[in-house]
Amino acid sequence: MPDFICPTCGRKMNRDLAIILPHTEEHIIDEIKKKHPDWVEANGICKMCYEHYKKMLHPS
Ligand SMILES: [Zn+2]
Repeated sequence: MPDFICPTCGRKMNRDLAIILPHTEEHIIDEIKKKHPDWVEANGICKMCYEHYKKMLHPS
């Protein structure tokens, strides 16, 4: 299984920790693109980054 390098945090990890964001998460996708203009959804992000952006947009 190929390694995955998260485009937003640069961490190297197992491919199965990568997340491809669904279109319903468009607000998160927009937020990531603001910080990483070269990033595209198909690149995916790691679980940690996903949780990070989710928390940022939906603070509990
Ligand atoms: Zn990451």
